Amino acid sequence: MGQFAVIGLGRFGSSVATNLVRMGHEVLAIDLNEARVREMADEVTHAVEANANDEEALKALGIRNFDVVIVSIGQDMQASILCVLILKELGVKYIVAKAVSEAHGKVLEKVGADRVVYPERDMGARVAHNLVAPNLLDYIELAPGYSIVEVVAKPEFYDKSLRELGFRAKYGIIITAIKRGKQVIIAPGADDVIREGDILVAIGEDTKLDKLEHLHG
Ligand code: ATP
Repeated sequence: MGQFAVIGLGRFGSSVATNLVRMGHEVLAIDLNEARVREMADEVTHAVEANANDEEALKALGIRNFDVVIVSIGQDMQASILCVLILKELGVKYIVAKAVSEAHGKVLEKVGADRVVYPERDMGARVAHNLVAPNLLDYIELAPGYSIVEVVAKPEFYDKSLRELGFRAKYGIIITAIKRGKQVIIAPGADDVIREGDILVAIGEDTKLDKLEHLHG
């Protein structure tokens, strides 16, 4: 069980906090706004009203003893940057900070955020991908130009083996798993056959993965 602190209880911060609690972790939720703290009081381990720019207040909360501190202040960029700076100076082990723009993110990294997340940008990209390729269920960008994707198998793949389909030989795409209902075939072999309704998890170059994502072509 990890100990987490979430600072800033907007939509993103509250969602991170409640999800961590659901996963069985201890969560301290902090916000300036009394109403937001009250709303979260029943959802998390502790919810307190405090100014995240007040070093003494953060110290008094024992913030440096938490495994991870998530700073989810968006609109007030100055408050978010100062908060990360203070957390770093207090010796917090791992700081995750939400950025609303690339510039904001760069500054957060400079002042000591160990990880910067861009929820709006990432969700926008996800929705756009899904609109263009409706059978694309999920993807993770590994590095620019390379991803892992989860796609619904196209009808033209049905009842063919991976050898016959030749994803690896033709496109350098590796199918790392096939999900079939509740069953998961990990590291399928060349003789494994794709069935209707299968979900494929594949890794490769984005330009090649397009072959799996688009229903036609
Ligand atoms: P979301 O999109 O996730 O709702 P947002 O970007 O709109 O977030 P904001 O409303 O800017 O987020 O801020 C999130 C929360 O951070 C707010 O509840 C606000 O009260 C809180 N907050 C802002 N400044 C501070 C601060 N100095 N100390 C503590 N909490 C703060």
